[in-house]
Amino acid sequence: MVEAGEPAFRGRQLAEALYRQWVTGLEEITTLSKSLRQRLAADGWQVGRPTIAQVFQSVDGTERYLVECGGAEGLTVETVWMPEGDEGETGDGSEAEGSRSRATICVSSQVGCAVNCQFCLTAKLGLQRNLSAGEIAGQVVSVLERHGVEVGRERVNLVFMGMGEPFLNYDNFMAAVRLLVEEVGLSPQRMTVSTSGIVPGIERFAQEPAEVRPKLAISLNAPNDEVRSEVMPINKKWPIEAVMAAARKVKLRPRERVTFEYVLLGGVTDREEQAREVGRLVRRTGLAAKVNLIAWNPGPGIGYAMPEAGAVERFRTALGAEGVPVYVRRPRGRDIFAACGQLKRTVGRAGNSGQ
Ligand code: SAH
Ligand code: SF4
Repeated sequence: MVEAGEPAFRGRQLAEALYRQWVTGLEEITTLSKSLRQRLAADGWQVGRPTIAQVFQSVDGTERYLVECGGAEGLTVETVWMPEGDEGETGDGSEAEGSRSRATICVSSQVGCAVNCQFCLTAKLGLQRNLSAGEIAGQVVSVLERHGVEVGRERVNLVFMGMGEPFLNYDNFMAAVRLLVEEVGLSPQRMTVSTSGIVPGIERFAQEPAEVRPKLAISLNAPNDEVRSEVMPINKKWPIEAVMAAARKVKLRPRERVTFEYVLLGGVTDREEQAREVGRLVRRTGLAAKVNLIAWNPGPGIGYAMPEAGAVERFRTALGAEGVPVYVRRPRGRDIFAACGQLKRTVGRAGNSGQ
């Protein structure tokens, strides 16, 4: 607004309109005079947010959205609504009692991803571009509006686990978190950001004030550097010990824990002795931590296998016996390619979509 020649307080009015009232266009902002709105429009200013262009509905209630970011390239990202969460954000059921709602929104931070994890479909896209802070926060607002969520009354969890690596788009990601906390009114303690282990990003994250710092999840996915480098080549740049050292710099809140995500790849990372190795590794870090197990979700053109029947449970038991809290994440929206690592603008089966 200052750039448009207006006093700064008009910027507050704009933020209020976009992030509290969820307006979708300049003409709806009645706190600005009609003549001002007309002048801004005539000068070429636009106000809006990413729009939900397509909806895929799963039998389990999950919805996957193709969200248009605007801009000439016509790029879309994916955002996912899980009405009952996926048990990954709390993992221990501690918040399950007496809550009105436990929905979780999975948010994208980039179009595609540059990290190249071998088991992940998003990696196949490569990095198309970073999302702006408005595009990241706007995904959330669009989904809140679609479901008529009353912020402050209903509990909503956010997981930054959609497309992209948030810590390779750090400034925009954190600016989006501040918009979501300070303008939309969501709590950072109900937000979890997941990283593949970008050490400089984790170190910056450790400096963020608690009022705007989400919880941290690290995609561990392997019991040691050898296996991790194979499935996540980024590990050659930032090996496990470097990632753990950075994670130890985050000053956890009381009762807060770092989550280690662990994708079980059949025959590659799902063996019982590997579970014990993960247990020793996690204990050695000295971090207050828990492990979320995710059975690998298949995707076209990826040469891994799902864990065999019983393997997830055996892994969970063996890891638990090491004294590490461990939870199994239920896959959500697998039938519409909405589950972890399946986000790649895959258009669902005919008849499966529609607004
Ligand atoms: N880029 C970030 C966040 C997005 S990926 C990261 O890697 O942490 C979110 C989670 O999905 C990660 O823990 C990742 O290991 C997991 N994942 C990726 N592909 C998967 C697949 N095919 N099946 C199950 N989980 C997968
Ligand atoms: Fe990127 Fe995360 Fe997929 Fe790895 S798992 S390629 S970091 S989105």
